[in-house]
Amino acid sequence: MPTTNAAPARNFAVIGAGLAGITAARTLAQAGHRVQLFEKALKVGGRMASRHTPFGTFDHGTQFFTVRDERFAAALATTPSACRRWSATAVRVLDPLGRVAEAAQPTPEAHWVGTPAMDVLPKHWAQPLADSGAITLGTHVQAMERDALDAQRWQLNTRGDDGSVHVFAGFDAVLLAIPPAHAAALLERSRLAPTFVSRMREVEIAPCWTLMLAFPQAVQPGLPHIGPQWNAALSTHHRIAWLARESSKPGRGAVERWTVQASPAWSAEHLDDDPQRVEAKLRKAFAEITGIRAEPGHAQVKRWRYAKTTAPLGRSHLWDGRLGLGACGDWCLGYRLEHAFVSGLELALAALAP
Ligand SMILES: Cc1cc2nc3c(=O)[nH]c(=O)nc-3n(C[C@H](O)[C@H](O)[C@H](O)COP(=O)(O)OP(=O)(O)OC[C@H]3O[C@@H](n4cnc5c(N)ncnc54)[C@H](O)[C@@H]3O)c2cc1C
Repeated sequence: MPTTNAAPARNFAVIGAGLAGITAARTLAQAGHRVQLFEKALKVGGRMASRHTPFGTFDHGTQFFTVRDERFAAALATTPSACRRWSATAVRVLDPLGRVAEAAQPTPEAHWVGTPAMDVLPKHWAQPLADSGAITLGTHVQAMERDALDAQRWQLNTRGDDGSVHVFAGFDAVLLAIPPAHAAALLERSRLAPTFVSRMREVEIAPCWTLMLAFPQAVQPGLPHIGPQWNAALSTHHRIAWLARESSKPGRGAVERWTVQASPAWSAEHLDDDPQRVEAKLRKAFAEITGIRAEPGHAQVKRWRYAKTTAPLGRSHLWDGRLGLGACGDWCLGYRLEHAFVSGLELALAALAP
């Protein structure tokens, strides 16, 4: 019989199928371990999301991403068809009236987007896990405790979309790839890791109301689009922080579409407002900034309770090897997609270390 020095395969649970969780789960699976990825939504991707409408898609979460870490670049190279450079990203800075306050500088680094929509990239990356039955969607992990049959292991208490309650058992380690408020609440309910909980409670994340608008009437021969000549802008208007012409992104279709993000302060102030009221206020601000006063063929808002980290953890992940418990997510390092990737990768590597 041949002998092997390979460590025995372990059972990992990863909670949260945003980019951090997908990255951690893929890394563990590629190292030969058994992984089960739990996601409360009905699809993977988390905030790397796209809204699909009859007029085309909106990247209503991640707008674009940068690629500074060479490990992120190497991972992206494995699915070259799933992302492309967004060429029209000379980002303007606008004054509160929507006038260009600073001339566009040549973009210092490439801006990338998933193609044909942002959510394609996490789907591609999660596909090998899905193919091997390693993803459980529509499943909210509510608490964890020691496995009833093996006190060295963990079991997860979950609630499904339909209200059904399940227990998934037999995990050597559990990785939380969810926002810190959710992770802290889960650990508190489970009476576990108070040190992690207090670190998580120090992280601050601002919300974001996002407005999506489509103007199908603007698609006419000889009229490429309506409104401003720029395709992306940072705004100092008190309601709006960012605007992007979705239809300028590669592979998106011609219908004139805009994604508009409210400022963190305005979003926090109006967090619990009625969505219709929020939509009306943001549409008014959008018209003031862009001069586009046409009636949209499609308008909707989305509230992101946790959008942009303003006070990160300050390290790439949390890991307790003795407990077999860790946490990752963009919030560990900052607010960019790449932070989510690096955090998920580093947590998986820590969990794999002997
Ligand atoms: C409006 C907006 C604009 C952005 N713009 C940019 C940008 O331009 N550039 C950029 O680089 N980044 C941007 N970001 C940030 C980027 O989207 C995030 O950094 C990244 O997607 C975070 O990934 P994550 O895996 O850490 O978390 P998430 O994507 O939040 O994933 C967490 C997942 O956990 C799931 N979950 C939570 N609790 C549970 C539970 N108890 N059980 C099961 N599942 C659970 C959630 O449903 C979610 O799918 C933006 C974010 C938002 C919201």
